[in-house]
Amino acid sequence: MDNFMSLKIKAISENEAFARSAVAAFCVDANPTVDKLDDIKTAVSEAVTNSIVHGYGKDPEAVVEIDVTRSGGKVHIEVRDTGVGIPDIQKARAPFYTTKPDEERSGMGFTVMESFMDELEVKPNSPHGLIVSMTKSLGNSD
Ligand code: ATP
Ligand code: MG
Repeated sequence: MDNFMSLKIKAISENEAFARSAVAAFCVDANPTVDKLDDIKTAVSEAVTNSIVHGYGKDPEAVVEIDVTRSGGKVHIEVRDTGVGIPDIQKARAPFYTTKPDEERSGMGFTVMESFMDELEVKPNSPHGLIVSMTKSLGNSD
């Protein structure tokens, strides 16, 4: 393992921009392209927003945890919540699937994470909630 960091944030939308910038800042000394950093920021933003918007209601105690590991030229990011979770993850990952169509949600969050990152895994957190696990190469050659 080359480096790691952990973040715990209160699940409020004000913290989404901080989380995405903090993860990007942590990746910077691996010298990624600006495009790759933007992809990472967007993916983190989608995952964290999902935890805040869908995982938790207005729970004042709600926390989102973000672990970032850099190793072998790759970054691995895990975003975890202990909210309501997703009953059918495969269905939720499909493009345009949303349970909040009335709130300007387009159902494209998972699709964006999948296309902007090299790998995306979505699994239940125990005993409640969701784990979104993503990996991307930081190298300049691909
Ligand atoms: P968009 O991301 O385009 O604004 P969206 O959030 O509805 O819309 P996705 O991010 O693809 O779309 O998520 C699809 C669905 O999966 C959500 O509508 C919600 O039902 C469910 N979901 C996603 N993340 C979580 C989470 N952390 N906890 C509970 N449900 C979630
Ligand atoms: Mg979303």
